[in-house]
Amino acid sequence: MFISHTFKRPDEDRLYGAIEAGGTKVNVAVGRSATDIVATDRIETGTPTATIEGILGFFEEYRVKILSFGVASFGPVRLDRTASDWGRLIATPKLGWTGASFVQPLIDAYAIPVELETDVSAAAIAEYQFGALRGSRCGIYLTVGTGIGGGIVIDGVPVRGNLHPEIGHIRISRGAADTGFSGSCPYHGDCLEGLASGPAIERRWGTSLDRLPEDHQAHRIIADYLGQACATLALTMSADRIVIGGGVSKVAGLHRAIANRMRYWLGGYLDGPTIRNDTFIVAPDLSDRAGITGALLLAQRADLPDR
Ligand code: ZN
Repeated sequence: MFISHTFKRPDEDRLYGAIEAGGTKVNVAVGRSATDIVATDRIETGTPTATIEGILGFFEEYRVKILSFGVASFGPVRLDRTASDWGRLIATPKLGWTGASFVQPLIDAYAIPVELETDVSAAAIAEYQFGALRGSRCGIYLTVGTGIGGGIVIDGVPVRGNLHPEIGHIRISRGAADTGFSGSCPYHGDCLEGLASGPAIERRWGTSLDRLPEDHQAHRIIADYLGQACATLALTMSADRIVIGGGVSKVAGLHRAIANRMRYWLGGYLDGPTIRNDTFIVAPDLSDRAGITGALLLAQRADLPDR
């Protein structure tokens, strides 16, 4: 009797590999799709060699099942596939990481498609697909934590140009009450990250924002700086929604306070229901899963036959 075989691998054997590489930790996952995660792990971001060893160690068990990888990397990182240094980190203050790559070791070990975006652009893609940026024309995902970064998606497609947006390093006007502290960014001092990131907050007030009393001036100062940044994004990008995530953003009432300061700095400009609405600046729908979900979406895209 003749038995016909199909050579298509059954769905349960198809897995996508995802890496969300941040400055302090790397989240890794394998999933059948962006919303069907099979296994995850967290690896401390140590030296490049140790971190990449940890990443490859996690995927080894799934080696034969993985079709493609999505990498959501901290930046600045070369995204241009035609560049000789595609996938490599560029001039990062993170010790030992300049020139390192999360992409190349995967290609060397697996020889399967790899798609790369910044961690924040991947989070923006995920929020656009499944979360708070759904329906936005120009949506922005901002993370405020150990560092500050932002991804911009226009109709779901991340903005790239010379490199990628580096929203954390835009210049901010320092408030009169915020004295006796030099901004923590080694490149710019008083940029957004230098003034409003977790380490910048710790350095001048000795603790995290959520541990400071509600009436502490730190709350007003940080909301003001993030409000300035959002006003700039509303003016330059014509943003119609800004999602703010990351450790610092979890302080109660912060999103509303930022929106108030943004409207103050806009000074009546762009006034209308979009800017006035409490849904202009919101928390992520996918909470801390936005980045890894985005990395899985990138892996699915990498596996498309027509790319
Ligand atoms: Zn900076």
